[in-house]
Amino acid sequence: MLTIVREDSDRTLRTRMRTANSRPDLHAGTRIDTRGAPGTGARSVLTHLIMLNVSREIRLRKYSSESVRKRQMPDIVDKVTRSRMMAGIGSRDTVPELVLRCALHARGLRYRLHDRNLPGTPDLVFRRFGAVCFVHGCFWHRHIGCSYTTTPATRKEFWRAKFHANVSRDRRNQHHLLEAGWRVAIVWECALRKQGELQTALMLDRWLHGVERTFETHLASDG
Ligand SMILES: [Zn+2]
Repeated sequence: MLTIVREDSDRTLRTRMRTANSRPDLHAGTRIDTRGAPGTGARSVLTHLIMLNVSREIRLRKYSSESVRKRQMPDIVDKVTRSRMMAGIGSRDTVPELVLRCALHARGLRYRLHDRNLPGTPDLVFRRFGAVCFVHGCFWHRHIGCSYTTTPATRKEFWRAKFHANVSRDRRNQHHLLEAGWRVAIVWECALRKQGELQTALMLDRWLHGVERTFETHLASDG
């Protein structure tokens, strides 16, 4: 801002200040000293005027039709988080998974992680119980009826195909595991939000000690 002021000739500066004085409606409360140009006082006034102009320009630009057309829906998460979410499929040690592991460990349950020899590389394997557990992100694995199961507005066909592939793969893996005699639990990410991991760990613990072949967390009340 100050660089612009320095480059201004005295004449431009005085013209600008005269304009400002002749339009008191635009600059209410701003008293301009025309004698001191280009002294420190005038400089700060000029800075103020430029700021006014800049903010007006920003306002205009903000609502011009072209910028509205170019602008997309603001993302609800920052770029880094979005990038992590997009790369999240099949990733290990996600936050929901760590949260659940911690709660299960606290209950005295022990498990193996990410056994590649089993279909779908289950996140947790409870050999003692002949059971495996997947921690599924609601977005990627398409939790039906869940508010986290959103669909991106752009490239609809790409996402449809991708989601379809994910869901089929999950079904296939689950089928193979059950056929091989494993019991299968699916813990949806939404069940682990808002300190839900303790309740989820309790239910999983009960299931492990029970006889049911499958387990799935309920739809969280808010999603
Ligand atoms: Zn969900």
